[in-house]
Amino acid sequence: GRAWNLVRRPNGWPVPEDFDLVEFPVSEPAAGRILVRNLHLSVDPYMRGRMNDVKSYVPPFALNEPMTGGAVGEVIATNDDRFAVGDHVLHDLGWRDYADVRADYATKVDASLAPLSTYLGVLGMPGLTAYAGLFEVASFKEGDTVFVSGAAGAVGSQVGQMAKLRGAKRVVGSAGSADKIKLLTESYGFDAAFNYKDEAPVVKQLREVAPEGIDVYFDNVGGEHLEAAISTLNVHGRATLCGAISGYNETEPVPGPRNMMSIIGKRLRLTGILVGDHAHLKTQFVEEVSAWIRSGELKYDETVVEGLENNVDAFLGMLRGHNTGKMIVSVGK
Ligand code: NDP
Repeated sequence: GRAWNLVRRPNGWPVPEDFDLVEFPVSEPAAGRILVRNLHLSVDPYMRGRMNDVKSYVPPFALNEPMTGGAVGEVIATNDDRFAVGDHVLHDLGWRDYADVRADYATKVDASLAPLSTYLGVLGMPGLTAYAGLFEVASFKEGDTVFVSGAAGAVGSQVGQMAKLRGAKRVVGSAGSADKIKLLTESYGFDAAFNYKDEAPVVKQLREVAPEGIDVYFDNVGGEHLEAAISTLNVHGRATLCGAISGYNETEPVPGPRNMMSIIGKRLRLTGILVGDHAHLKTQFVEEVSAWIRSGELKYDETVVEGLENNVDAFLGMLRGHNTGKMIVSVGK
């Protein structure tokens, strides 16, 4: 088998020299384990944080060992009663083609219900993040006006559509290209969207698309977006702080919003989310979202990069915005 090791901690933007594709022997699984041939691998923004040697909610990747991450594959050998050869499983030993997985940490997934890659995206961790972050953490309610940043990505694209499906008054989003803006308004049903890379400041563009202010902000980006949202939130507005990708490759701490004072006057509520806290929503989430997908009401996109040798490039591409919807690395061929 082959796996990607982290061999050096990136300083700022990761470079190819920080990673190495190494070979390892594949053997029969020991008791309580299964051998999985991976088919689809996930690359996610949080992995950038794990490349740093800092204490966080997930431990850093160890140097000179395979990195981990979401993956879906087929069981090709089993030493655990719960799994048979041919089963498809979701597990956390990505960044490699063959995975020796502890059976306790594998979840069966059904290829006849949905394409296998969706268990890493719209029906998986990012989808649940959108669902929990909007409905539980932000206490979204019918009639709210919602703003989501990173709106053409895996999480953001679902947030906007879910808000619309549950009766938002108005949904607006921001993303980093003209094509993405077109997708948001013409395919995903956003009422308006803007390209944050355009010259005008985010706050000005946001005011234009949400002249009556916003009630909910779903933050995937941090930085200038968060400051603009605080300025634009209405009284008793709520924000879910989900991610701050604009700062993930900074080498110095990024300055906070300059308008924190207005949180007081407007009695705003800003709440962080970790998707792991919301596992209790999983069944309800899968039922509701898969029904929306079957009826065609909820759309999702995936950007698929082929080949394990391109895993690092796919990860860097995702950080740069080369993905529309969920970035997936397919290694099945
Ligand atoms: P995406 O699919 O949204 O991919 C990342 C996107 O970020 C890129 O496509 C790019 O789109 C955008 N981006 C990159 N740099 C910037 C920047 N400087 N300013 C604005 N946008 C930028 O990733 P996910 O949907 O998987 O994750 C979205 C966010 O949610 C991340 O911040 C992630 O860390 C967070 N997250 C948090 C979880 C939690 O439990 N708290 C769980 C899952 C995700 P563009 O072309 O628009 O720039």
